[in-house]
Amino acid sequence: MGALHAGHAALIAKAGSSHVNPSVSTGQVAVLVSIFVNPLQFAPGEDFENYPRQLHQDVLFAARAGASAIWAPSAEEILPESGKSGIFRVAVPDVLTTYLCGPSRSAHFDGVATVVARLLAFVQPHLLVLGEKDWQQLVILRRMIVELGLPVRVRGVATVRESDGLASSSRNRYLSQEERLKARGLHRRLLEQSTSAYPASIEGLALLRQRLKEDGLTVEYVEAVNPTTLQPPQTKAHKLILLAAAVRCGTTRLIDHIFWAARKPIVAIDGPAGAGKSTVTRALADRLGLLYLDTGAMYRAVTWFLLNQDINLADRHAIQLILEKVNLQLELLPDGSQIVCVNGRNVSEAIRSPRVTASVSAVAAHHCVRQVLTTQQRQIGDDGGLIAEGRDIGTAVFPDAEVKIFLTATPAERARRRALDLQRRGFAAPDLDRLELQIKERDQLDSSREEAPLVKATNAVEVVTDSMDIEAVVSRIEDLFRLQIPEEVWPTPMC
Ligand code: C5P
Repeated sequence: MGALHAGHAALIAKAGSSHVNPSVSTGQVAVLVSIFVNPLQFAPGEDFENYPRQLHQDVLFAARAGASAIWAPSAEEILPESGKSGIFRVAVPDVLTTYLCGPSRSAHFDGVATVVARLLAFVQPHLLVLGEKDWQQLVILRRMIVELGLPVRVRGVATVRESDGLASSSRNRYLSQEERLKARGLHRRLLEQSTSAYPASIEGLALLRQRLKEDGLTVEYVEAVNPTTLQPPQTKAHKLILLAAAVRCGTTRLIDHIFWAARKPIVAIDGPAGAGKSTVTRALADRLGLLYLDTGAMYRAVTWFLLNQDINLADRHAIQLILEKVNLQLELLPDGSQIVCVNGRNVSEAIRSPRVTASVSAVAAHHCVRQVLTTQQRQIGDDGGLIAEGRDIGTAVFPDAEVKIFLTATPAERARRRALDLQRRGFAAPDLDRLELQIKERDQLDSSREEAPLVKATNAVEVVTDSMDIEAVVSRIEDLFRLQIPEEVWPTPMC
């Protein structure tokens, strides 16, 4: 809406960074800043008339921040039908406006969504960059884009703050010097509350409300919600909470929030053989700065060891005894690949042999093997900050992972990919029909075993990759990750 400040500059910078927007490096990108004080999102009595308008300064500011152009349409351009036959509007579902700013600004989000849908239709950008400061708005717009199938990706930018902690906002300029001192309390009190063991308790919220009042602020709401559903967390086990408040400081309405996270995020990528899990998971680990864990390699390493020791793979007792002698070590190389060592020997290549592949599902079905490896996997992921691929990550190893993906493709496509992979590794590839048969057999074994079978977790998102290239799959999962995890909680690393 203009009156640009450091928060907007961060959005412009992000839109123009090649890391977020790969087309920047090819010179085919323009960063467009739209400035439109949207009448539909103001209720009568709000500050529409007085909202700061300073187009000339904004043009200079945006250019300095790296914008290619500003588009500042008139209300008639954006809403040509208004006043005549009325306009079509986007109706935001009630569940997204039950809490936070919804109750006090009833038509606000419909107005925002309606105008943003129009801006997107006019501009047709590849990427829409929005601030996380207005978190509820960001969630609503993301949902609108997904549900209306609008062809644009969304990126959030963590809240930019001024030196006293106050979140940058065009409305900060309404504050007198004295009010500005009071306004600092908003962020400070939220931060204080976030250091408690569980910030969403009724007593904790009441205390926060009380403290804000003591700071001279008039509290409109203090709420704790699940940042994705915007509903109160259903159990205390919920790992990520949005603690948000709206206050009046004098006549100025201010909103702010902080995120409380019990641990760093975990992403689970499950799916059948040959769906491209390794490639995609490694690329995502790199892009999101997460630790990469290939659990299939662990089952393969154990299988390699058992085959080398000539153990009968059906002999549960023999396997249980020998498992104690397997010292499995995983190491991450700077290029993001994972080295697997068994008793000090690097077996990373050997575990990819057709012989190991043919036996691994039988080994992975043993309770004792799963117990040992699952324990080790949980230790690795204890602190979060991890993306793990396998068959049971979202169902058994990390059932509380924040993001769960079930990556799959038709058996024919998976056979084609497996053949390429084998050739690349220097192994002879059987013909495609045979490979497809082997893949189906492995699917059958993995999905029918008694313990931790391969199934899609109830809350996993299925991604069928047949017609997608790697970049499309990675982008899709990155978008799903960002639906759950704010930049403020887990920032995208800069290259
Ligand atoms: O993914 P990859 O082909 O390397 O996995 C090899 C095998 O290891 C799978 O077919 C499955 O039998 C087993 N596995 C498992 N649970 C996991 C990962 C792999 O049972 N989490």
